[in-house]
Amino acid sequence: MRPPALRIPRRLLVVAAVLLLAGAVAASTLMRGGEEEWEVVVVSPTLAHETFQLLYSFGPRLTGTESCEAAVEASVSYLSAAGLNVTVERHPHVLFEVRSSYLALIPYGPAMNFPLPGREPLEFVHAVDYVFQGYSWSYTWNDFRDDLEVTYVENYEGGPIRGASGKALVLQMHEDLPGNLELMKAAKRAGAKALIIHNTRYDPDLNYPPIFKSSLEPPSADPESYPKIPFLMVSRDAGNIIRTQMNTTKLRLKADIPWSVKEVPVVVATYTARSGQSYVIFGGHMDTVYNGPGGVDNTAGAATVMALAVRWAELSPSLNARFLLFTGEEEGLFGSTDYVSAHRGELGEVLAMFNFDMNNVVLSVCNRVTVSYEDNSSVGDLKRALKLILRETPSWGRYEVSFRYTDLSRVGSDCAPFSREGVSSYSVWGCGSREYHTPYDDSTRVFPDSLAFTSSLMATFAVNYYS
Ligand SMILES: [Zn+2]
Repeated sequence: MRPPALRIPRRLLVVAAVLLLAGAVAASTLMRGGEEEWEVVVVSPTLAHETFQLLYSFGPRLTGTESCEAAVEASVSYLSAAGLNVTVERHPHVLFEVRSSYLALIPYGPAMNFPLPGREPLEFVHAVDYVFQGYSWSYTWNDFRDDLEVTYVENYEGGPIRGASGKALVLQMHEDLPGNLELMKAAKRAGAKALIIHNTRYDPDLNYPPIFKSSLEPPSADPESYPKIPFLMVSRDAGNIIRTQMNTTKLRLKADIPWSVKEVPVVVATYTARSGQSYVIFGGHMDTVYNGPGGVDNTAGAATVMALAVRWAELSPSLNARFLLFTGEEEGLFGSTDYVSAHRGELGEVLAMFNFDMNNVVLSVCNRVTVSYEDNSSVGDLKRALKLILRETPSWGRYEVSFRYTDLSRVGSDCAPFSREGVSSYSVWGCGSREYHTPYDDSTRVFPDSLAFTSSLMATFAVNYYS
């Protein structure tokens, strides 16, 4: 990673060079697409790698945590040093933070009254064997009397649950298992002390890991406003052990998961090329789940937006642009929803919104890039942009791009709030990243070349179609 401060001299050098050799520099940076008279914007894999490393170095960045705030600060410095005008907009939300946890099976005597003396607990590993779900409540363990008996339900599809009072309720995952909030309500009504989903369904390639998923935001940080219950998912293996030993062991759970109202940041970096109000938006979420570094989801997308912002400022095309780094995406698109609400009066000036969400391609698995669009008349020019950037960088022919009409107001990504307000939106997705929301979504899955490719494609399209 290049420290943000070092960006300043380079930027000054570029300015000096432009002043000295205006014509020549313009030709080499803002390339022409041959006879077609189109500007081509090429983002280098090196730059995408740099911005990826900058964000990734902060580790997991659940919104509201110190690491997320530190990454926000770093991205502000980095983008400011690149010559953009950067602000941070903030709006309050209820957030949770997993501070500490412990989960183990404790062997009990035949009457299940006391732990067997001298027997070791079987401890589970956080993030590997179990993760908390969004808006899980804490569990305070004082002594063995707080150990929990287990009850296991195979095919829960809704309605009242019997026999779970005072126990840890384990629900087997299946196709028709209700959503998180409904499960929390049902478990609470049943008097359960903890709720656990047993993953027997998703990600066989990763041996059915525990997967983080959020739940609907509570109306306030007062836990009484919500079905407060400790809420976990366990891996298939961990769940099988719990199930087979439920008559001879109890679960020992300790969890410190405070909730509080915090300001959710959105980084807004503005590039102004010309007078006039209209502009395009490039955005992606920079927050991650808490249980992994979020290499592909969505350090990749946020790094793409940052690299593109830097390149845009270098090339100075005649199209105004805003580069947005959202947070709170993992809890429920908080940042993008807030941004749209706060800017509702000026959305008419937004020419288009380009969203980058897991736009990384794991070439060892697949080579597909999907560009979702809503404006049917843009398809021809999207294809033209592809042709032009392939001419600049022929090796990008290894990606297979499919352009697909999609109603983006319905997707679970940051373009949805924009699309719902009538802003023509695009979203770019990669492939081969089944690891998201687990600890395995790390930098080894990330290929900066695919970030450079997707940002060059969308920027080249935008700069010509919307200028
Ligand atoms: Zn995600």
